[in-house]
Amino acid sequence: MSPQSLWQEFPELYRHLLPDWFREPYQPEALATCADCAMCRPDETRYQVKHYQPDLKCCTFYPDLPNYLVGALLCDTRPELEAGRRRILGAIQTGVGVSPFGISAPKVRELLYAHGDSGAFGNSTALLCPYFDGEHHNCTIWAFRNAVCTTFFCKFNDGRAGHHFWAQIKAYLSYVQVLLSEVAIRALGMDLNALPENPLANNDRPVRLSAADLDGRVDAAAYQRLWAEHQGAEADFYRACYRHVQGLNRDHVAQLAGFQGERLLAAVQSAKADIDHPKLPQRLQRHPAGRLHEEGPEQIVAEGFNGLTVMPTLLWRFVTQCDGRRPTEAVVAAFEAEHGVEIDRDLIANLVQNQFLRESECD
Ligand code: SF4
Ligand code: SF4
Repeated sequence: MSPQSLWQEFPELYRHLLPDWFREPYQPEALATCADCAMCRPDETRYQVKHYQPDLKCCTFYPDLPNYLVGALLCDTRPELEAGRRRILGAIQTGVGVSPFGISAPKVRELLYAHGDSGAFGNSTALLCPYFDGEHHNCTIWAFRNAVCTTFFCKFNDGRAGHHFWAQIKAYLSYVQVLLSEVAIRALGMDLNALPENPLANNDRPVRLSAADLDGRVDAAAYQRLWAEHQGAEADFYRACYRHVQGLNRDHVAQLAGFQGERLLAAVQSAKADIDHPKLPQRLQRHPAGRLHEEGPEQIVAEGFNGLTVMPTLLWRFVTQCDGRRPTEAVVAAFEAEHGVEIDRDLIANLVQNQFLRESECD
């Protein structure tokens, strides 16, 4: 896959709002093959590694959508977005999780998600996203997905370093979402201090459930207090939020984001540098998490950070020869001399990123 701009991964609205740095070229995550889901292949079940159901994929999650992204979808009249618009309008109609901040997961869903074990994600229909199209196995609001969905990948070209990079982008985008959702609310004349906590701001909040939450219904009095004169015109409110945010520019957002925005952006840039210029540890040893599933004369199947990996048996031998005592360059030189091959240093870095190798703990 040829490099593309990071912009292309984000909802289009962000292109004139976020720093120019996001024009940075990056290598798309080629291992996360969503159209033919990489976590739903028969191999995954054969070797009993973590896998997902094809009709659920990684969409066993209820996203919190900021008001301006909801409004952006509702303002977009493209016919191919009709299914997404319908679902969003349906969610607004129920009132559950619907607030001036945006549309959030019903609390019962948050509770279920928080208590699912490691096999529940990707396998439980009870956790399925309401915006997932079960017939075509894709997302109906893709162009307007939130920070979590924008930055989720199941596998990474650069293994752990790639995971770290996207985690930093998620932190940055999540911060921007909270900021812009509140800026929009204030611009529409609502008193932020009179509203409850922004549900977009704290994904780890403890979930306390009222009777209405438990029953999946709206407390009419609380809903009226929340929306005041906008009750009954929630969709229009979200559209107005979008129009306000759409009218901002990079400078406005940078100013609003302030020091915290700069700090989070610096973390993204540092994580990108780790991907672009990986450093090889002085001494390497086999990573205990790298599990060998099958060994043949030509190739082996092992499980690392990215799940199953098929690699040449000779390369696996190199992994097993990294004893943690000799310097990396000495191990590589001895191996190359013994087998008459050359091992690309990027390939060794990739073995580290995929947790087949790690920095030695020996002194
Ligand atoms: S990111 Fe999700 S949909 Fe895409 S390949 Fe991975 S699990 Fe499948
Ligand atoms: S919003 Fe779209 S990408 Fe995100 S969980 Fe739902 S269906 Fe999946």
